[in-house]
Amino acid sequence: MIEKKIGNTPLRRCEHLSNKFSTNIYIKDESCNPGKSSKDRAAYFMLEEAIKGNKIQPGGTIVEASSGNTGISIALMAKELGCRAKIFVSKSCSEEKRALLEAYGASIEICDNSFGLHVFNSTQYQAQAYAANHENAYFTNQYYNSANIKAHYKTTGPEIWEQTNHQVTHVIAGVGTGGTISGIGRYLKEQKKNIKILGVEPTNSVYQTFLEHGKVENTGVVHDAIEGIGRTFIPGTFDVQAVDAIYQIDAESSKRAAQDYRADTDQLIGFSSAAVLAAVEQNLSHMNFKHDDHVVLYFPDHGDRYLQKLYNNNQQETTKAFDIL
Ligand code: PMP
Repeated sequence: MIEKKIGNTPLRRCEHLSNKFSTNIYIKDESCNPGKSSKDRAAYFMLEEAIKGNKIQPGGTIVEASSGNTGISIALMAKELGCRAKIFVSKSCSEEKRALLEAYGASIEICDNSFGLHVFNSTQYQAQAYAANHENAYFTNQYYNSANIKAHYKTTGPEIWEQTNHQVTHVIAGVGTGGTISGIGRYLKEQKKNIKILGVEPTNSVYQTFLEHGKVENTGVVHDAIEGIGRTFIPGTFDVQAVDAIYQIDAESSKRAAQDYRADTDQLIGFSSAAVLAAVEQNLSHMNFKHDDHVVLYFPDHGDRYLQKLYNNNQQETTKAFDIL
């Protein structure tokens, strides 16, 4: 059964970044989940609660609005449950993720989230409407499902605490629904109040304003510049008490961080993982790490989901090199 393989992902010390940032840097590698992203955790917890509440039956359809990863996790699990998966993704969802969704048997609809998630063409609106209008269809609704936070409170938080031998001082993670950072933050702050929980979002997203001013002023357009993170509204799965600060980063800096990281370590990291890395690089003096701190960077997925978006330049160079040969 798939649930036995979810979580307990490795936490690896990164020598290269530890030297670069003069502290102890660890990477929580969520690409080691069965669906190859952190979203297996939330998907599993949401589906488990739905099954307990008799909301899902074999032959039914599980519906979700997703930047891709939650959809992939749901598609994977729907098979085991004898259900179909209907996933509404934004037009900015990478080609690799769309192909994976289809390979896992999901039916996908491409929507437009450029004007927020509450307008007619958006993933959230369409998913909600689809579930309301079809029998035996259940909308997991990750933005308002407390099982999303619970997944990280029950699994990711405790894993980080144990894997660092209770020494963790900072966790830095991208914020999409907020489920990851809220669950991890809630758990770790219960263990030790002064552990710093730092979020990362794209420029123009609203979490930083909300955290600093208690209200959202920017309700304008957010392009899905960095897949998986950034919002135009505050969802039910963001717990402001669990987070100390939010840093903003642009897509170009994130892309550069991914390419630099590959040059330094030969590893391909996901877009939002690269955003976390870029945010640390740009805010190092503000984050003020001490030599004996233990800093966990949360990497939700792998670079192989973003070959075109993040690593394309070098692919073209490779093709050119072959052409010459
Ligand atoms: N990074 C990626 C690649 C994701 O798919 C997600 C989930 N949307 C996140 C970060 C953010 O996680 P959360 O929704 O729990 O805030």
